[in-house]
Amino acid sequence: MSVSRSVTFEDVVKRYGGGTAVAGVTLEIAGGSFVALVGGSGAGKSTLLRMVNRLVIPDEGRISIDGRDVAGISAPAVRRGIGYVFQDVGLFPHMSVAENIAIAARIGGGAAPDVGAELERVGLPRDYAARMPAQLSGGQRQRVGVARALAGGASLMLLDEPFGALDPVTRDALARGYRDLHDRLELTTIMVTHDMAEALLMADRIVVMAKGVVVADATPKTMLAGEAGEEAAALVAVPARQAEALEALRGG
Ligand code: ADP
Ligand code: MG
Repeated sequence: MSVSRSVTFEDVVKRYGGGTAVAGVTLEIAGGSFVALVGGSGAGKSTLLRMVNRLVIPDEGRISIDGRDVAGISAPAVRRGIGYVFQDVGLFPHMSVAENIAIAARIGGGAAPDVGAELERVGLPRDYAARMPAQLSGGQRQRVGVARALAGGASLMLLDEPFGALDPVTRDALARGYRDLHDRLELTTIMVTHDMAEALLMADRIVVMAKGVVVADATPKTMLAGEAGEEAAALVAVPARQAEALEALRGG
């Protein structure tokens, strides 16, 4: 099994035209950790994530994986070993599930994957290999997206609102399933979400972004205790209140 990898951001800046999407971010993400990147729309979360696998090139600063500056590595080489899963996972529509999974492994330079085993790992029946993406539900497509990333040998996973388009029950099942995979495979995961409840329940560490900078960085427990600053407290207040209301309802 591959060893989980660390990611370092040093004074990272990315500008678009007039605006600054990421305005100086410094973060150290330990190998094996599960970090949620939370914040409102336009905060710079996706831009920060996409600089890790060179989908976006920073204007300033440095991003390293295991101490190696990604700017000095070709994009395909950086992406080998990184899984990228986003909301509309982007399976090739004209290829079967098996072909979608196999092509990722081939691009990753690996041997032909055991597609059935990859499907089982993400909780799908083996015979889904023959299906076309259009024959899957949204949740099943996201599972294939994760299987595809892992078949390529990824040890670092970048998830951008991976469960965003799913109904709450499917979303919860996928979130738990994914966290379990993260632990079993000893992955490093950076997950973008605007859902603080999801971040609190899934991550070891929550980084809150606003206007391109980090405004809070703490464990879920510290965030829930309201000890991670005003921005974090405001975001945590909503799910905390809902949890209390549900608890009261059950008690009464
Ligand atoms: P988030 O993922 O937190 O919603 P993004 O990283 O997508 O935020 O965007 C941050 C800011 O950068 C936004 O103001 C957005 O409009 C801008 N932006 C993102 N990508 C591009 C792009 N390719 N071209 C121009 N502006 C962009
Ligand atoms: Mg985004």
